[in-house]
Amino acid sequence: MLPRTRFIGVVLFSGLFALPASAADGVRPARNAAPDLAGAAAPKAAAPADWRDDWRRNRNALIEANPALEFDPTSVLVKFADGATDAQRAMVRAAIGGGVIETWALVPGLEHLAIPGSVDDALALVSVIGEATGAVEFAEPDFIAHLGGIPNDASFAQLWGMNNTGQTVNSDPGISGADVDANLAWDVWTGSSGFVVGMADSGIRSTHEDLAANRWTNPGEIANNGIDDDANGRIDDTWGWDFYNNDKDPTDDNGHGTHTAGTVGAVGNNGRGVAGVCWNVKLCGLKISNRSGSISLTAAISAVDYCVGKGIKVSNHSWGGGTSSSSFSAAVDRARTAGHLLVCAAGNSGANSETSPQYPASYPQDNVIAVASTTNNDTLSSFSNYGSTRVDLGAPGSTVYSTYIRNNANNAYAYLSGTSMASPHVTGAAALVWSQNPTWTYSQVRGKILSTVRPIPALSGKCVTGGVLNANNAVR
Ligand code: CA
Repeated sequence: MLPRTRFIGVVLFSGLFALPASAADGVRPARNAAPDLAGAAAPKAAAPADWRDDWRRNRNALIEANPALEFDPTSVLVKFADGATDAQRAMVRAAIGGGVIETWALVPGLEHLAIPGSVDDALALVSVIGEATGAVEFAEPDFIAHLGGIPNDASFAQLWGMNNTGQTVNSDPGISGADVDANLAWDVWTGSSGFVVGMADSGIRSTHEDLAANRWTNPGEIANNGIDDDANGRIDDTWGWDFYNNDKDPTDDNGHGTHTAGTVGAVGNNGRGVAGVCWNVKLCGLKISNRSGSISLTAAISAVDYCVGKGIKVSNHSWGGGTSSSSFSAAVDRARTAGHLLVCAAGNSGANSETSPQYPASYPQDNVIAVASTTNNDTLSSFSNYGSTRVDLGAPGSTVYSTYIRNNANNAYAYLSGTSMASPHVTGAAALVWSQNPTWTYSQVRGKILSTVRPIPALSGKCVTGGVLNANNAVR
């Protein structure tokens, strides 16, 4: 990072107060071709021929080619202070050549800016201007996170997590009762087809035989009429959105998201495949990753923003990374105010999250539930993160069988292991409890789930509750 004094010189002497036209909201950064003023005037996210489409293609190609990137090298996030004036905002954008890619109703003042230069230089410059003017609350990169979960070969379907009778799964004999008692919960409640869950993941194969009936339909949108009927900035978002590629089709191209969706809400009692924890539910596709599982944090912010805008009460987050983001944390704060609950995978580093936090699971806000992974022997999975204050409970995550994508078929299933598979068990249980008690707050739903766990020795001191999700206790 360059010395601060140099940037003060830039601020004072480079004419920042006389704004070039390119600093206007929505105009592309200077390094690119001539500004597209039509793009600047169009508020719709999916406006055709927008310079942002070119920016996104370039950004996506960079991430695809460099899977180890820690942050997007082509953009930054700037959170303006509440009192920042339009002139101050324009000055900051001009100083870094920033073009507004996206803003969010969820977090007022937060801007995602495309930049022509280096992220380090832009952040240093914004920091100096912010200190001099008080107009900037924080600035940070758009961090890259990743889906979790490692595929195993499927041999046969055995949902030990729902009901463990001691059956052997992938050569590993289980212990009867080491499960979430979902079969007993289903005697009382199997969910409601009016309850919507947001799946922030690689997308969903919505035509899958065990998912199609539970695909959410946006009641405010007329399919394929080219109009943003519900005025949420997304044209023809009939069952969700692809926030990574910024288009209307959140179809899964990885498999991970179809697997987590099935654990939350595969159709139950339909004579085929598997059953989700919540049989009757609607799954909203929120694609935030590329096909390799790399996630831009801004896509995840957009997914939470979309949920809150649509009144969706709970979202599943089977992804993460080691970097805390002020922007995502602000989104979590706002989601909390709106009553939205985020259920998050604790992480697959086998680490203590107290000292090696994983985000979003490790954000301290109480509308985040962090989930560790357990085995069919009631042990903590070897890969699972844990933490006495930063992880809340355990749920089945080793060798979980669920819906999948393979050869463009609609009847594929697979075993996957990871805290990614544990989190959707809890999300499904949250959907059960919330649809059973529609007037409850996120806090009541969280309290019910955490207070009804089944304690096991392996989780004692390893998480807040010391126990495994029990769906049956949660609906009694
Ligand atoms: Ca729309």
